[in-house]
Amino acid sequence: MENQTCKKCGGKEFAEGTDYMPIKTSKMALTGANKIFTFCLDCGEVDSIRIENTEIFRK
Ligand SMILES: [Zn+2]
Repeated sequence: MENQTCKKCGGKEFAEGTDYMPIKTSKMALTGANKIFTFCLDCGEVDSIRIENTEIFRK
């Protein structure tokens, strides 16, 4: 992992967490994707949010 620095507190320790996001596709099928958060271990500031399996968003 590259050197990240928290823009809020200057902390250098980060961790990742995920959150499940339900999505309705155009075909009305219910599916979902994981959001992956990278956040500062000191103050909790979220550095980035990434979406897993973006394939499902393609038409
Ligand atoms: Zn921080």
